[in-house]
Amino acid sequence: MEWVGPLKGNSKAMVMQCLQCGLLRTCMPRWKTRCHACLDERTRTAELGFELAPAGRGSVQITPEIEDYLALFDRYRDQLPEEIRQICVVAKVSAKLGHRMNWYYASMFSAAMMVQQRMDEFRHPDWEIFATDVKGLPWFGVTGTESHGTIGKHLRCGNYQKMGRECQFCPPDPGSRTDRAMRDRPYLLYLVWFDGFFKFGIGQPARVHTHRRQGARVIRVLRGIHQDVKAAEKRLKERFKNLPPSPLMDTTFLPRSFGIGEKRTEVVPDLYALELNLDEVLRDAEDVTVRYLPRPLGSDVPPA
Ligand SMILES: [Zn+2]
Ligand SMILES: [Zn+2]
Repeated sequence: MEWVGPLKGNSKAMVMQCLQCGLLRTCMPRWKTRCHACLDERTRTAELGFELAPAGRGSVQITPEIEDYLALFDRYRDQLPEEIRQICVVAKVSAKLGHRMNWYYASMFSAAMMVQQRMDEFRHPDWEIFATDVKGLPWFGVTGTESHGTIGKHLRCGNYQKMGRECQFCPPDPGSRTDRAMRDRPYLLYLVWFDGFFKFGIGQPARVHTHRRQGARVIRVLRGIHQDVKAAEKRLKERFKNLPPSPLMDTTFLPRSFGIGEKRTEVVPDLYALELNLDEVLRDAEDVTVRYLPRPLGSDVPPA
């Protein structure tokens, strides 16, 4: 890995580039770091890429996850380093033909597209997303939501910086730090479930991961722009505003992320499942549910 820089602007996180495949990542200064896509002795046990490179006589599986990777590739192919782009082209052709792919490259393809998924969380018309770090990924599944951050370039001023709510270098717009500044940012409308109760809500990916870590099952996650997602949430809330309170119902077993006591909102019993159709309140949104489903974790499959 080699340091890329210095970049205009500033940031505590640094950007490193893999000398083998060209992929960028963020890292802390002076940390020893490794590429997200190229495998080494630690990462080659991860269960990645086996859908496209099944062992033995297994057939090639186009799972919803692989479909998502292929769509990400189509969308961002021009931003990928040449080496990774070529591997993705092979993955795409192999997947279409149902041909088994070389396992090493299949895992690189999956890992590189997981990095794209992460970058996708920050895409915005005013920003070019430059590099990110997927903590705990791609080797051991989603284990956390923290990372060394994502570096983007604000197109108006050209400064690179850690992605936050707004540019650190441009004067704030009047009315910023409010919904106005957030308006066009990608945002999620989600539905999770725990033992007889649904919870719906809106937020960033970390919010969905938190529910999941606390034991909730992810039912559906839609991605739209902030203002549409807020409006959709309002419509849902409207539906349940007259829900009769049920003081006899014991809900103390619910995950803490569902809220506690008075702060527990948007929690609806199973009975109302049919009224929780997210697609109905948020039309033309992107279905990103697959990104929040548990990944199989295993290390029992030897490299092909
Ligand atoms: Zn690499
Ligand atoms: Zn700026």
